[in-house]
Amino acid sequence: MSNKFSTLSLCDAMIQNLDKIGYLEMTPVQAQTLPLILDNKDVIAQAKTGSGKTAAFGIGLLHKLQVKKFRVQALVLCPTRELADQVSKELRVIAKFAHNIKILTLCGGAAFGPQLGSLRHGAHIVVGTPGRILKHLNKETLSLVDLETLVLDEADRMLDMGFIEEIDKVLEYAPKTRQTLLFSATYTNEITFISDRIQNNALSVKTVSTEVQNKIQERFYETHESEKTNTLIKIFSTFKPENIIVFTNTKLAAKELAENLTKNKIDALAIHGDLEQYERNDVLVQFANKSCPVLIATDVAARGLDIKELSMVVNFDLPHTQETYTHRIGRTGRVGADGMAISFYKEIEDVLDYRDEKRIFDDQNNLKTNNGFEMKPQFVTLVIEGGKKDKLRAGDVLGALTADGGLKGSLIAKIDIYDRQTYVAIIREFINEAHKKLSQGRIKNKKFSVWIL
Ligand code: ADP
Ligand code: MG
Repeated sequence: MSNKFSTLSLCDAMIQNLDKIGYLEMTPVQAQTLPLILDNKDVIAQAKTGSGKTAAFGIGLLHKLQVKKFRVQALVLCPTRELADQVSKELRVIAKFAHNIKILTLCGGAAFGPQLGSLRHGAHIVVGTPGRILKHLNKETLSLVDLETLVLDEADRMLDMGFIEEIDKVLEYAPKTRQTLLFSATYTNEITFISDRIQNNALSVKTVSTEVQNKIQERFYETHESEKTNTLIKIFSTFKPENIIVFTNTKLAAKELAENLTKNKIDALAIHGDLEQYERNDVLVQFANKSCPVLIATDVAARGLDIKELSMVVNFDLPHTQETYTHRIGRTGRVGADGMAISFYKEIEDVLDYRDEKRIFDDQNNLKTNNGFEMKPQFVTLVIEGGKKDKLRAGDVLGALTADGGLKGSLIAKIDIYDRQTYVAIIREFINEAHKKLSQGRIKNKKFSVWIL
């Protein structure tokens, strides 16, 4: 099958321009989505970074654009200013097939005034971050009444950054009869949930196969009670998992293990029944947003935990039943990567029921030693003493962090907003800068207490 752009119902000028910029053939995501997009269907597409998603929706929305009608006909929402700038740049290149297509970028962290001026001059296409777009809609400096195409680019990242409410509010300003395109690198329940709400009979396209059942490698190690912590560190040092849940049978063991690992420079937190609700929340948020690589839990404390994509589960204590074993290890296995389940036992009699040809019974002497091995998280979490009750939104927080030569949006990984608190995951090297920026500055013109977890 030919993947040439000329197989699509595009005008000659568009095809000639694509040729000129060196886009000779469609990438897989373009080949699969463009026929549907040009047919005005709602599409939800999953593809890796660098697979050409921008041109997929870009060609689609530009093809439909009525250049003579000087109204905003397409809106592209992006998670950060840098990504919005990239999208605008790419759209401008593809838009060269026609004269005078006006593309405007509207992002938080940039001055509001000049944006007003640009908006007064009008635009065909607006690209921006949800918070700032919403601000313009609220102030009626931007109108979406003529909108034909709405794109959510990097939708998974926008959800991670806490933009769901802003997106919902933006949608209230958009006409119901529009085409909605949703692009994402991952395909999670949240993505299907948002698609169900904002798209109509969306057709789904996946260029990476995620349907295959992830394999879980199950390994067993005999180890003395007194050397378990040490064996665990050797396991980490040998297999280098990114995020791990370790199960113990008692809350006392969970607490002790967290302390011992921390003493050994492995960042670990425990959840157990003795924690106050807010403490439990602090721990879970840090684990989920990758500010702590190791979570230690009892079965009771782990109940109802919705943490996906674990690279490893460890049975520090063997569970009392095989059913619990299956339940525990089912949490591992990630998109495109196999999971690993490790179990410790005292003597072989304890694990006779577990023996089968799939399971590996290894000698711990085969593990690496843990000389100087450390585990530090990629991110650190900042807490703001303010949340939904203070009408704080992700856009406000992101804006406060990135304004006036502040942090780059790409350094901020995740924003979780609760009623009275907001958690922000930031690349660890920039945590002090972020802390300073937020504690000295204001968010929505208000001072908030801010601390590092
Ligand atoms: P994604 O959004 O999927 O991460 P981009 O849209 O940023 O990827 O595209 C990645 C790169 O591939 C960009 O440099 C873009 O110019 C280039 N590209 C996109 N489509 C084509 C094509 N059909 N032929 C050649 N290069 C392409
Ligand atoms: Mg992209």
